[in-house]
Amino acid sequence: MLSLDQLKEFCAAQKIPAFRVKQIMQAVYQEGAETFNDITTLPAPIKKLLTDTFQISTVKPTAQEVSKDNSTVKILFELPDGNTIEGVLMRFNDGRRTVCISSEVGCPLKCSFCASGTLRFKRSLTWEEMADQVIYFSRYLKRNGEELNHVVYMGIGEPFRNYDNLLKSLAILMDPQYVGLGARKITVSTAGIVEKIRMFADEPFQVNLALSLHAPNQELRQKIMPIALRYKLDDLMDAVKYYLDKTKRRISFEYVMLRDVNDTEECAHELAKLVKGMLCHVNLIPYNATDIDTVAGSEKSTIKRFQEILNDAGVPATTRVSLGQDIAAACGQLANKAQKPVNMPRPVAMPSVVKKMARKVQAKMEK
Ligand code: SF4
Repeated sequence: MLSLDQLKEFCAAQKIPAFRVKQIMQAVYQEGAETFNDITTLPAPIKKLLTDTFQISTVKPTAQEVSKDNSTVKILFELPDGNTIEGVLMRFNDGRRTVCISSEVGCPLKCSFCASGTLRFKRSLTWEEMADQVIYFSRYLKRNGEELNHVVYMGIGEPFRNYDNLLKSLAILMDPQYVGLGARKITVSTAGIVEKIRMFADEPFQVNLALSLHAPNQELRQKIMPIALRYKLDDLMDAVKYYLDKTKRRISFEYVMLRDVNDTEECAHELAKLVKGMLCHVNLIPYNATDIDTVAGSEKSTIKRFQEILNDAGVPATTRVSLGQDIAAACGQLANKAQKPVNMPRPVAMPSVVKKMARKVQAKMEK
C-alpha cells in the first residue's frame, strides 16, 4: 500500500513539489485511482516514477463472484507471496455497504461449522494486506457511485491472534487521509481470546467488538469451538464484563444457528440467562450451507422461536439478513476452491478428537 510517509520522503528526494503528495493521496484514497496512470492531473514522468517505485495495493483480485441480485460481491485476493484470502462486500437494502475482511491466511481455530477452518493456516496478514482489502472495496464502490460505510473483521482468521497488525490496519481505516471511517463503523470479531478482549477494552478508540459465542454453555461450546477448551466460558464472560465496564459500549454476541446442535429452546433459555442484563445484542446467524457441510442450518421457524425466547427474556436479539446464498458467501468458501481443504471435525465431535485439536490450537497460539 502507498503510505503517506513513504510518498513524502520519495517526493522530497525526487524534488517533486510537495502539493503533489496531497494530490496523489487524494486520487488514490478518495477518488478511487487504481493505478498512477489513472491520476490525470499528474505529468507522465511522475506517473512513471511512481509506477516504478510503489505498489498501490498488496492485494490483487484474482477471482470474483457476484450474487444474482448484485447484493454480494466476493473477491479472492492473491497476496504478494502467492497465498490467497477473500473479502466480501454486502449491499443491504437499508443502504449499508459492508465489507468483511480476512485477517489470516487460513484459520487454525477450526470451529466445526466454519469453511475457513478447513483452510490450512499459513500465516497472519500484514496490516497493509488487511487495510488494502478495504481500500479495494472502497474503490469498487466509488466506481459505482457508492460509499463504503461499514467494515467487519469477520472473514478468514482470528483478528486477535494478529493484534499489532490489527491495530495498525484500524488506524489506516480511521485515518481521514486513507479510508476515513468512523470507529463506530468498524467491528472486530473474536472467537474469544480472553486477554485480548481485555486489551481491546483498554484501547483509546471506539471500534465495536463482536464475540462469536455460538453456544450458551461450556460443554457445548467446546464441542463446536476447540478454542473454548483453552478459554473457558466463565473467564470469557468475565472479560466481556470488563469490556462493558470499561468502554460502556454494547457488545454483539454472534450465534450461528446449527440444526439440533445449539438451536433448542433450552439453549435459548440458557443463552438468555447468560447474557441478560448486559449491554449487548445477540445476532442470530442463519447458517450458510457450505461445500464441506457436516452440519445443517436451523429451520426458519426454529430461529424465529429462538429469537422470541431471547426477546421475551429482555435480551435484544435479531436475525441477520442472509445475503449471497447463491454464491456461498460464508467466509472461506471461495478460498476453499483455491486451496485443498484439510480434514474437519464433525460438529459435535468426540471429546478426544476435540481435545487433541485444542492442544494443537493452543500450541500454535503459544508460538
Ligand atoms: S469461525 Fe472464525 S475463528 Fe472459527 S474457524 Fe472460522 S474463521 Fe476461524
